[in-house]
Amino acid sequence: ESFTDMCLHSCIMKDIAFHEYSTPTSIQAQAMPVALSGKDLLACAETGSGKTAAFAIPMIQHCLAQPPICRGDGPLALVLAPTRELAQQIEKEVKAFSRSLESFRTAIVVGGTNIAEQRSELRAGVNIVVATPGRFIDHVQQRNTSLSRVSFVVLDEADRMLDMGFEPQIKEVMRNLPEKYQTLLFSATMPVEIEELAQEYLTNPVQVKV
Ligand code: AMP
Repeated sequence: ESFTDMCLHSCIMKDIAFHEYSTPTSIQAQAMPVALSGKDLLACAETGSGKTAAFAIPMIQHCLAQPPICRGDGPLALVLAPTRELAQQIEKEVKAFSRSLESFRTAIVVGGTNIAEQRSELRAGVNIVVATPGRFIDHVQQRNTSLSRVSFVVLDEADRMLDMGFEPQIKEVMRNLPEKYQTLLFSATMPVEIEELAQEYLTNPVQVKV
């Protein structure tokens, strides 16, 4: 399958071409059609496989199908990642594939950075938030953002998030989502804890492995 076959928004196609991604990687070819069809996904993939674009592009496309964001609105899509460095890489990739889209906003919410700056970014209204779990929960509790409009969730490097002790925060987020949402779970390994997490929060997920 090629990017052209995926029925992506013309602005996203432009950004893919700009980045000289000519053919999808294996994880992209397997995961993107599933994600674009609205199904939940359980993906076993490591860094370097092209997994970031595999979820970022369907996530942006999902946001484009929702009503526009207004000031004060919570995000439409949320990515949880284990570390600040990974969150920064993900946000960079999300920005890369939404650069041609007018007024498409993303925010990064990680520990160890200015909380007031994050608050004003969040309160302005954003399409996508990329976050580490602890800091995101802080902002929800302080009512700087909300989960009320989230309809697309990505758990990236889920095994590492569990290793780092983020299970309570992940569950707190998942429990407070609106009724209808799509979840993509990416993990380099599939220990029983990840299977249990998927069992609890994913609905009939399609499994892919690279
Ligand atoms: P990731 O596994 O998401 O960290 O991506 C690994 C690297 O592969 C990144 O530097 C991406 O820019 C690059 N990449 C991802 N998808 C493609 C593609 N379809 N064609 C060429 N490079 C890609």
